Amino acid sequence: EASGLETEGNGYAPQSDFYKVEAVVRPWRLSHVASALIKMGIRGVTVYDVRGFGAQGGARERYAGSEFTEDSFVQKVKLEIVVSQDQVEAVVETVIDHARTGEIGDGKVFISPVADVVRVRTGERGLKAERMAGGRAEILGIVDS
Ligand code: ATP
Ligand code: GLN
Repeated sequence: EASGLETEGNGYAPQSDFYKVEAVVRPWRLSHVASALIKMGIRGVTVYDVRGFGAQGGARERYAGSEFTEDSFVQKVKLEIVVSQDQVEAVVETVIDHARTGEIGDGKVFISPVADVVRVRTGERGLKAERMAGGRAEILGIVDS
């Protein structure tokens, strides 16, 4: 019986062709993370300025003065990266490797299934919409059927 929660190979439930990797990281790590993503062939990324609190609470960032806030939320950035299932682990690894300082407040990554992708310009759906020119699949020589 397909509950939709069975895992079959990749270890994620529910199974999906695409996943969204959402990463909340320190603003001053963003360019470092982004250049690493570009280097590995990630071409589509959405970034938001956000504020939040975790174990770090409202403790002020100890690093750049521009990141200080006067209220109880700490300024962070959120990256949203939709990729095919086979690219999720590599993306997560790259993000954490380049966002990490080892101090409280480094951030967190959330992974969730994405039902479909639509390219506005062409109306393409699915893998055709998710693949990007010069993207990771192309770099790795993965040919889509
Ligand atoms: P086109 O070939 O028509 O330019 P595209 O696939 O390159 O299509 P864009 O229209 O350039 O996509 O993307 C618009 C915005 O959508 C990007 O600036 C980015 O914020 C977001 N975006 C695109 N692809 C992704 C993705 N895979 N994950 C997260 N955000 C994405
Ligand atoms: N998976 C896409 C590709 O290989 C890239 C997706 C992305 O850049 N977010 O073309």
